[in-house]
Amino acid sequence: MRFDLLPILNADGRRLSVDAELDFVGKEEQGAVFLTPVRVTGEFLNIGGSIEFEARVSCRVRYECDRCLESYEDDFACSFKEIFKKEDVKNGDEQSPDVIILEGTAVELDEIVLLNIIVHLPHKHLCKNDCKGLCPNCGQNLNLGSCDCDTRPTDPRFDILDKLL
Ligand SMILES: [Zn+2]
Ligand SMILES: [Zn+2]
Repeated sequence: MRFDLLPILNADGRRLSVDAELDFVGKEEQGAVFLTPVRVTGEFLNIGGSIEFEARVSCRVRYECDRCLESYEDDFACSFKEIFKKEDVKNGDEQSPDVIILEGTAVELDEIVLLNIIVHLPHKHLCKNDCKGLCPNCGQNLNLGSCDCDTRPTDPRFDILDKLL
């Protein structure tokens, strides 16, 4: 979605609010699958010729648990800030890597939002904090019930007992 900044581009102090939904449904990033459109709310603000963009995004995503490998859903939300400058601004000394140079008068909202979501997505995925994971022997999901595997440390004396029984 292209978002045109022309109304505030040459007007110091002017604001432009954003309330949009971006459709990334089905897309997968960093082990997260988007289940709902991404809601973006925020505003662009012209401060002395630079355009500051402060936004909050939220959506529902699906992850795969690192321990039990089951899929689970969770809410995702994050806030971020970006600074844009017009390409004709002549201030070579202030070249900052954090500043995005505007090409024309519009920004690609999808691109900016997606990059910021990727930065904020969690690296660890657990369906619940106390997920018991899978049995290393039979693969049973231990959240759903215990298995019959003998997970006691092996001790030769038990083998002899087993034979006797
Ligand atoms: Zn789990
Ligand atoms: Zn087992």
